[in-house]
Amino acid sequence: MSVDMNQKVQPAMAQDKPATKKRVFSGIQPTNNIHLGNYLGAIRNWVETQDQYDNIFCIVDLHAITLPIEPKELHSNIRKLAALYLACGLDLSKCSLFVQSHVHQHAELSWILNCYTPMGWLNRMTQFKTKAGEDMESVGTGLYCYPVLMAGDILLYQTDMVPVGDDQRQHVELTRDLAQRFNGLYNKPVFTIPKADIRTAGARIMSLADPTKKMSKSDPNPNAYITLLDDPKTIKKKIGRATTDSERLVTFDPARPGITNLLTIYQALTGQSQQHIEAEFAGKGYGDFKAALTDCLVETLAPIQQRYHELISDMPALEGVLKQGADEVRPLAEKTMIKVKKAIGLG
Ligand code: ATP
Ligand code: MG
Repeated sequence: MSVDMNQKVQPAMAQDKPATKKRVFSGIQPTNNIHLGNYLGAIRNWVETQDQYDNIFCIVDLHAITLPIEPKELHSNIRKLAALYLACGLDLSKCSLFVQSHVHQHAELSWILNCYTPMGWLNRMTQFKTKAGEDMESVGTGLYCYPVLMAGDILLYQTDMVPVGDDQRQHVELTRDLAQRFNGLYNKPVFTIPKADIRTAGARIMSLADPTKKMSKSDPNPNAYITLLDDPKTIKKKIGRATTDSERLVTFDPARPGITNLLTIYQALTGQSQQHIEAEFAGKGYGDFKAALTDCLVETLAPIQQRYHELISDMPALEGVLKQGADEVRPLAEKTMIKVKKAIGLG
């Protein structure tokens, strides 16, 4: 299967959003291969609701340079992520898919919003503290201003809903505060005030190595996450090694975060209730459960991987999709920039 460029007869985003549909915007950083948390917390939800909304999905490469990354790796990650978005089921007749740096208005709005963001607001952002760690004095200021760039991404498209994982709740709150502050300052509805859309199932998948930390692409330990491209052998190995405890009961229990995280993944994949899952594994041990989880993961990822390999082998088509996506959203971004500059008195 290659990318069907004829799938979209009329560009979905050539005009402003249809009055009947709310606009959705979301994105993922091309920092590494995406993992199960990204799938269950974000992409799967985008796919599920794509009929309902007017959708814009972005590969946020400007965010990916907030920490060091090799140029070749970044370039290749962008294409891989685009192929994975499509392989997971995003439909180009229902969404625009583009690369953030192809639309310069993201960087432009981010600078402007930086000038309206109190330092105190950014000082409260927990992701900066986690990511900067011990290097607080030496990391780039881009990492500190990351939430402002994200606010710009969302506000540029007059977004109503932002489907993200739980870790992004604080950043969406900051986006709302910033939009309200800006609108209030100029007494004009320049920005739509967006809402976070965070589902319960799969909103926070934890690391397989340390279940007190969230699963992250940038974790230096590859055994901490299952990527969407892991083969069955790797999945078996990673689930086999996943941290649990010395007990045997296969039950959801906050005091045992390792097994609870694995059960949460199983629940998100199967859609079954906690009671149903606990009954399924009553009298069985962690080994039986890990084998069932491995099978379930392999089965879920196989069709995605097959579609991914087809899509990534047709690079010109993929590049064409990304160009078309940027062409579709650029006029919307520019429309917001005109409003912003007019409100401020720039130019
Ligand atoms: P990085 O370590 O580079 O920040 P990441 O794994 O945190 O990578 P992002 O690109 O920052 O991934 O986030 C993409 C989307 O995936 C966001 O909507 C985010 O909320 C969601 N997400 C990230 N990690 C998880 C997780 N562990 N569980 C559920 N959702 C997640
Ligand atoms: Mg992240």
